[in-house]
Amino acid sequence: MQTNEILIHYGELSTKGKNRKMFQQKMAEQIRLKTKHLEKVRIITNHDFMFVQWKEASYEEISNIIAKIPGISRFEPVYRVGKNLEAIKKLAVEIFNEIKIEEGESFRVVAKRSDKEFEHDTMAIQREVGSAVGYAYPQLSVDLRKPTYSLRVNIHLEDTAYLSLLSTPGLGGLPYGSSGKGLLMLSGGFDSPVAGYQMIKRGLAIEAVHFSSPPYTSPQALEKAKKLTAVLSQYGLSLVFHNVPFTKIQEEIKANIHDDFSMTVMRRMMLRIMDRLLETRDANAIVTGESLGQVASQTIKSIEVINEVTHSPIFRPLIAADKNDIIAIAEQIGSYDISNEPFDDCCTVFAPRTPKTKPRLDIIEGEETKIEVEGLVEDALNGIEVMTIDEHYIRQTTEAFSHLL
Ligand code: ATP
Ligand code: MG
Repeated sequence: MQTNEILIHYGELSTKGKNRKMFQQKMAEQIRLKTKHLEKVRIITNHDFMFVQWKEASYEEISNIIAKIPGISRFEPVYRVGKNLEAIKKLAVEIFNEIKIEEGESFRVVAKRSDKEFEHDTMAIQREVGSAVGYAYPQLSVDLRKPTYSLRVNIHLEDTAYLSLLSTPGLGGLPYGSSGKGLLMLSGGFDSPVAGYQMIKRGLAIEAVHFSSPPYTSPQALEKAKKLTAVLSQYGLSLVFHNVPFTKIQEEIKANIHDDFSMTVMRRMMLRIMDRLLETRDANAIVTGESLGQVASQTIKSIEVINEVTHSPIFRPLIAADKNDIIAIAEQIGSYDISNEPFDDCCTVFAPRTPKTKPRLDIIEGEETKIEVEGLVEDALNGIEVMTIDEHYIRQTTEAFSHLL
């Protein structure tokens, strides 16, 4: 039985008081943009739910989009019927006909009445609809506490009732962009795309910033970062991608800074650039894929000395995550295979042999007097290439390549 309507249950935004409208608008706007290639999609927002209706798409097409929208706790196909108990009973039986009922399964009916004028109260609706379903499917037992299936019957204020049976968990979190904007430091590795995804889920709009050092890093490494941006845009909107030219800075560090401190200085240079970008991009926070103790730059002492160049909030959603957990999320969101491609975003040429795990701020500051910090930051900022990447980017580039073959 086909339906052309999905009911969306909000996640945490249901607790957000006055901001609620803004949250709902952000979510509706994202759904509208994600479905704009489909005809006649209608989004109806009310206080407790959102409805998405369509004319020509399939349920799968729409639900695949809804499943990637942050801020949704669960969603389900709904079936509309007139507010008439006989019609409701008939529809309830039809809905159960859609599922393959197994031996030992159970059900219950949960009724809700927004329309208090409706001639039957919730107990009566539950009893009547429950006995109709029980009669039609004698193999289903009734279990009010832990049933296999809960059929929800909602008597709305307008002239319809809604029935729904199977719900799907949503992404959770907060609507895209409802928490502000962050700049994600995106390498080609496993961690930073997962960090970006975590923050997108927390309502942060994202722009991606990638530092590349050609010819020491390859065009494929840059391409990897772009494809990872495309993966993330599935959960947000189309994302701005910044390619920061970092070769000159790497070479200056290599030539002038003692090998033991080069990693710390390199990361401080990245953060200085990020800090300036926050201003020009009107963003509020920096996001990284760092995880405590994973490498020398991610010890407490390193983080302290690296942070010292900025007062901006730095979000590190993976700080407490294990690699295994990060990999599992990478697989789930579709970034794993891209991160797993063998092209490094940095290179052995610049990798220090013995990076300090406990750098001292005064020593690092002393080292930095040997390079033109401000001028180098300025040049890098001036050389940034910007583009917009959406989820179709991966398919487009694959097609472009196959054309060349
Ligand atoms: P990842 O898996 O994200 O590459 P990592 O475990 O390799 O992280 P590092 O290389 O030390 O760790 O990088 C730590 C963080 O710094 C990354 O998660 C990312 O946010 C940022 N970063 C590192 N290299 C780059 C780069 N070339 N461009 C942009 N950001 C970078
Ligand atoms: Mg890395």
